[in-house]
Amino acid sequence: MSVKVRFAPSPTGKLHVGNVRTALVNWLFAKGQGGQFVLRIDDTDVARSTPEFEQGIEDDLRWLGLVWDQRENQSKRFDRYEAAAAKLKADGRLYACYETSEELDRRRKVQLSRGQPPIYDRAGLALTDAEKSAYEAEGRRPHWRFKLEGRRVAWEDLARGHAEVDTASMSDPVLIREDGLFLYTLPSVVDDIDMGITHVIRGEDHVTNTGAQIDIFEALLKDSGGGPTPGFAHMPLLVGEDGSALSKRLGSLSISDMRDQGYEPIAITSHLGRIGTSDPLDVAPSIEALGEGFSFSKMGRSPARYDVADLDRLNAQALHGLSYADAQPRLAAAGADLGEAFWDVVRPNLQKFADVYEMARIVVGPVTPVIEDAAFARAALNLLPEVIDAGAWSAWTQAVKEQTGAKGKALFMPLRLAITGQAHGPDMAMMAPLIGRERIAQRLAGETA
Ligand code: GLU
Repeated sequence: MSVKVRFAPSPTGKLHVGNVRTALVNWLFAKGQGGQFVLRIDDTDVARSTPEFEQGIEDDLRWLGLVWDQRENQSKRFDRYEAAAAKLKADGRLYACYETSEELDRRRKVQLSRGQPPIYDRAGLALTDAEKSAYEAEGRRPHWRFKLEGRRVAWEDLARGHAEVDTASMSDPVLIREDGLFLYTLPSVVDDIDMGITHVIRGEDHVTNTGAQIDIFEALLKDSGGGPTPGFAHMPLLVGEDGSALSKRLGSLSISDMRDQGYEPIAITSHLGRIGTSDPLDVAPSIEALGEGFSFSKMGRSPARYDVADLDRLNAQALHGLSYADAQPRLAAAGADLGEAFWDVVRPNLQKFADVYEMARIVVGPVTPVIEDAAFARAALNLLPEVIDAGAWSAWTQAVKEQTGAKGKALFMPLRLAITGQAHGPDMAMMAPLIGRERIAQRLAGETA
């Protein structure tokens, strides 16, 4: 069986680390087995969906390398949902209800006060045609509920193992609102069937929905014997570094913000693909390699910890391993391509790619030297070798040490401050040949160069 999965975001907001993790795990699972990944825009709520958010979702996924094999919009498939609804109505599985939300609230309160579970009492199912007409005459429009089987629905969850939901303890779900809007429950099942989705992979907040949706799958597929229904995997949700739920903070963890903050796509995908698994939290060589190593058997039941400190570490790791060939176009685009030797000197010092611009400035200037002891700087200048090659730094600093008596930090810090204007930075022995004799001499003399 060839694997086909889908990611079904609603274009009502920006992608954040939570839903990107869902997209990523779908992609990794499918690609690890040569399968297909469908991007299915869940835009049945046309009032809240916007083309800008839809474009943003595509841009973010492409930037992360989560390229899709097929793309769909649910807003273009209403005829399919109408047909499915008509079938369910004809089979007596979708029934009209006329309660207002206030009436439902009141009924729930009464049930709770009697110690009963607040489950919808199926009053709609018992309405006569005359009663329905009377409601319509009052100006009420029906909403439509799916009649659950009321049984234990069980499946072998790829992430959770044996899973069961008792649909007898649930209210019949509303599939169509009174304004005619299809909630995602039915379109999702219709599309999964039409598109041949083999596995539904999503967060564990959907476990209860899966109980109802398996019931809907079977109702729609009843003519073909009730199946096959797709496999399911419900992933533990993300938590923050302190273990608290991340759901409330997700809005501020958008992928576009992370892109603006300078995170590398592979750091984000390695982090989100490996937290909550038994794999070491290291950066993967490529997203394809991440997919080859992916398995639900590595995923634990405990929540996955989203920790910015880990992400930062992976980001630095990704940059430290970035070859000159891969870095070169980005360096060139930023006017900071000073050659392979420069890249090799600076990359172990990068936390974010943009740090390289500052290091390039230190090489080509202008740098305003920081000199506390002018006599020391002059002495060093007088000893500066004619040629600054790979060995020059150690010979020179040795000579400065002998003449001035300065050693250790007292020797190296004033030289670094004078030559780079900064107290920290890449290895000076390797930076010096890049900066070159002329600029080093000017800076030791106190000139901005
Ligand atoms: N749009 C739904 C969501 O983001 C899709 C859920 C699903 O994957 O079935 O919650």
